[in-house]
Amino acid sequence: MSARKNIPVEVMTPETKCGFCTNTSCCTYISQEIDTPRSKEDFDFLLWQISHRDIRVYKDEGSWYLLAENACTHIQADGSCAIYDDRPQICRDYSNDYCEFDEPAEEGFELYFKDYGELLVYLKKRFKRWGQRPY
Ligand code: SF4
Ligand code: SF4
Repeated sequence: MSARKNIPVEVMTPETKCGFCTNTSCCTYISQEIDTPRSKEDFDFLLWQISHRDIRVYKDEGSWYLLAENACTHIQADGSCAIYDDRPQICRDYSNDYCEFDEPAEEGFELYFKDYGELLVYLKKRFKRWGQRPY
């Protein structure tokens, strides 16, 4: 994640690839696995969470996640990392082998809800009597 930007690059290699990446996508969100929602109560709670700004919900390889689309505060104007030498382990472990530079991550998700409305449409299909409280 976010190595050096504006370095002279002739060919794209694993070492120079991040220098070609203009929006540093991998540093602009966090995602957190959550318990698989099953009941109406579970999804009602998810609806509340996704009602908040920049929160998405997705399912990938059978697991559910909350995604917060908030950029890391350490991204500098040129896209590099202000704390590169002290960056957290998760940043060190991230491989640029096949990353968001190659394809937006959401294109591989089983399910992806960008907002309250999209999740609500899904719930009305999944539960015949969605919305009839109490659940
Ligand atoms: S999205 Fe990929 S290419 Fe761009 S900064 Fe992150 S790891 Fe590097
Ligand atoms: S700490 Fe640095 S490498 Fe990690 S997400 Fe933030 S900007 Fe990216």
